[in-house]
Amino acid sequence: MASAIVLLTLAAVAAQGPAPAAPYSVFSRGGRQPLPVRTIAGQDMFALDDLARLFPLTVREDALAGGLTIGVNNQTIVLTAQQPLASVGGQMVSLPAAPVHEGRSWFVPVDFVSRALAPILGSGLELRKPSRLILVGDIRMPRIAGRVEPLGSLLRVTLDVAPATPHTVTQDGGRLLVRFDADALDAQLPAAPAGSELLQAVRLADPPTVVAFDLGPRFASFRTADQPAPGGATRIVIDLVAQTETTPPAGTPLPSPPPPPATAPADTPPLLDLPPTGGLRTIVIDPGHGGEDTGARGARGTVEKTVALAVARRLKAALEGRLGVRVLLTRDGDQTIAIDQRAAVANNNKADLFVSLHASASVRPAISGAEVFYLSLAEYGDEARRVARGAAEALPVLGGGSRDIEVIPWEMAQARHIDQSAAFAHAVEAALRDRVAMSPRAVQPAPLRVLGGANMPAILLELGVLTNPQQEQQLAGDDYQNLVVQGLIDAIVRFRASTAGETR
Ligand SMILES: [Zn+2]
Repeated sequence: MASAIVLLTLAAVAAQGPAPAAPYSVFSRGGRQPLPVRTIAGQDMFALDDLARLFPLTVREDALAGGLTIGVNNQTIVLTAQQPLASVGGQMVSLPAAPVHEGRSWFVPVDFVSRALAPILGSGLELRKPSRLILVGDIRMPRIAGRVEPLGSLLRVTLDVAPATPHTVTQDGGRLLVRFDADALDAQLPAAPAGSELLQAVRLADPPTVVAFDLGPRFASFRTADQPAPGGATRIVIDLVAQTETTPPAGTPLPSPPPPPATAPADTPPLLDLPPTGGLRTIVIDPGHGGEDTGARGARGTVEKTVALAVARRLKAALEGRLGVRVLLTRDGDQTIAIDQRAAVANNNKADLFVSLHASASVRPAISGAEVFYLSLAEYGDEARRVARGAAEALPVLGGGSRDIEVIPWEMAQARHIDQSAAFAHAVEAALRDRVAMSPRAVQPAPLRVLGGANMPAILLELGVLTNPQQEQQLAGDDYQNLVVQGLIDAIVRFRASTAGETR
């Protein structure tokens, strides 16, 4: 049975044939070389022979086992036919497809370079699939993504450069030149707006480490500024300023006023399905602890993980019912969830708010009351404060998409949202204070790892203190849990109103 399947698979591969595809470019100190690509069964693949010409590989075929042993730097990569896996120095890594034996050559998916070769060859090997590049050694090839937007009478050009690279911006006749101190550029340049009289084209100049802007007839001057962007990138902002309008000669009619808005036809349905303004569409609630990690425990056996999940479920039902927002729980059962995984759920679902629920413990039974935390940046050093300061301007939204989580180091994600997180924490404190007992320090910043990775406003709420006998009883009961849920809903409504009109 197994061999029949193998034969069918091989037949299918042969029928599709290895199709040629655009080659990759391999950049090293020695220059630039093309690396052919074959598309086999929908996968872009490199021939191992080609890789062995570029990298110090020795390839041995093990006909008996149907696999390959590749020696690199005294380490070994083992590939097995039919398996999308590689053993890299004894560690298993996955590949998007199994190696393919085609004629006398073996082909491996392009990801073999990043997943199998790079770990062994070290940091000087980088695969950039979108731009079909492989960088070898200390090649300086920043990624540049640009966009152009009209800003009143200005035209604003933004170039996001990662990593930050020294550069100059100078005017050279009818061109503006941005010269980068780099070996090459991996650039996605924007098009000039159609019919613009300020900017006619954006292109790579000669040498191709210079980006040239061909200026239009109304260009008068430019100004430029650099902003640090998250993840060690730079944003270069260049404003192209137009010549001032000449005063229209006397007798020129004033521009006609805009036409009055057309009245909607009577049968136009009312717009009921507009998303709520303020951008609160998805809320992630994180019931703390779970599984073997019970969290705090009260004298009568009430455990934190159970209280947190009960409140989370009530809150989810109430939010969905009353606010019509999407609510996800990081766990909806009694399972263990890694701490970084909790913020990842929120990030992956593009949540607009993250609420982690806990109950605390104290060695002093008299301590009681709820407490609200947001992330303290003090322990994260200067970079976090820089990211936080640049929050409004440095949002790396390229081509309309938000890709900030790719470039912000994981633990920095929260830094940009710290002001909103603090505002939300205060809203929660104010709403809870009317309903339940609060701790003497009811709102405070703290270095909480669960919040650090969240790329949206985020708080952690200690619902109460389980080691206080009276609070243990309250925390386990419906009344207290409902009061907390009502308080959180009030706070979320207030927070949504305060952020209405802001876009993320
Ligand atoms: Zn806890």
